[in-house]
Amino acid sequence: MWLIFPVISFILLAAHSLRSGDMGLCFAWLLLCFLIFTRKSWVRYVWSATLVAGSFVWLKTGIYLLQFRMAFGLPWLRLGLIMFTVLIIMFVSIFLVLGRKGRAFFSKEKQKGPFQGAAFLLTTLALALAETKTSFPILLANRFGLNMGWTEIFFLALYAAWITGKMLEQGGSIGVRPRIWALFSLVFFLQLFLGLLGIEQMLMTGKLHLPVPALIVAGPIYRGTGFFMIILFSVTVLLVGPAWCSHLCYIGAWDDMASRKVKKIQHLPKWAKWIQFFNLILVIAVALIMRIWGVPWTLALFSAFIFGLVGLGVMLLVSRRKGQMVHCTAYCPMGLVSNILGRISPWRIKIDSRCDRCGRCVSVCRYGALSDKDLQKGRPNLSCTLCGDCLEVCKKNYIHLKLPGLESDMARKVFVVMIVSLHTLFLGVARI
Ligand code: SF4
Ligand code: SF4
Repeated sequence: MWLIFPVISFILLAAHSLRSGDMGLCFAWLLLCFLIFTRKSWVRYVWSATLVAGSFVWLKTGIYLLQFRMAFGLPWLRLGLIMFTVLIIMFVSIFLVLGRKGRAFFSKEKQKGPFQGAAFLLTTLALALAETKTSFPILLANRFGLNMGWTEIFFLALYAAWITGKMLEQGGSIGVRPRIWALFSLVFFLQLFLGLLGIEQMLMTGKLHLPVPALIVAGPIYRGTGFFMIILFSVTVLLVGPAWCSHLCYIGAWDDMASRKVKKIQHLPKWAKWIQFFNLILVIAVALIMRIWGVPWTLALFSAFIFGLVGLGVMLLVSRRKGQMVHCTAYCPMGLVSNILGRISPWRIKIDSRCDRCGRCVSVCRYGALSDKDLQKGRPNLSCTLCGDCLEVCKKNYIHLKLPGLESDMARKVFVVMIVSLHTLFLGVARI
């Protein structure tokens, strides 16, 4: 019976959104009610946070309406009482959801609950900020003029909570990561394809550019403007380290797929990393020279296209045979930038001194970041992208993800929340 209170609260909020013409938000409030049927522990965190947000909505609306009525000398007492009652219902709901009854009802998967709830809320916040802070609609549901942005946010946040739960299961990440990464790449390129067919809502601004990661650094150098991608890349790398190259890059997912054609990974020699270093210098130098010489954009575009095509060849001809992600570890300049910049972020993989060097982790690392020597040193080499595959295969738990101040188990969970939220944000808003 106590569930009547939160359900009524959500219905009241839905009615308020309907009255103000926001159909998307109205549906989102109503959909929150349906989470009741899952009885999962994360729903409790999501309900309490959204009910607190809802209380602020009523407080703000109530103050505004009362001030309005008072200013025009209209009767306000009845309205005041109604708003007060609504706020009391909200507070009682929050109290019940957070209390003993709420804990007993939403009792499934308690261990994962706080992290799934955090992923839901973080994704909601990030998508809402992206939508409100851009000068044009960024969510697909709004781009088509449906006014359903909040409903889209709800479903994306639900996806984030679900994926977080899957990744936190024993051995979950090693199976889930490649799938969600490939899904992101598919959605990204499908939108580009549909955009090129003439559905302009599928394109970000209508200004096309080549989806070659090297252009993240070369583009701004050549143009002298357009720093959005480099800022996005740097902020992401500071937040989650080099995990850009194992979870978020739309091209890296292809190299991952290519390398998975082979089960037994053959690692590249150490000098292969120098090719990537050379490519980084080459890309920066060529972009700079092209800018100084005023080379027309058509030629610049053509060179980027050739660079991308060679990269594709590396995936198809080398990664597919070696099982290592050769494109990302020895060709793409952004891979190296991400490895180096990632050192500023606090995330680290550490290997326990008790490690008996069985080599299971070495055999799953598709980035060539582990060798017997690296195990001895107690950390992977520069190529590590925090993909997490090695963490899942060490039976004795001697290899960990570390974040200062946290136990390794907690660090891993926090990392999963952050990376899944970023992945879902990219899934919702990244397009060309
Ligand atoms: S190395 Fe380049 S292509 Fe590979 S994931 Fe990183 S940025 Fe993307
Ligand atoms: S060392 Fe581990 S986390 Fe780093 S790239 Fe290799 S498998 Fe992934």
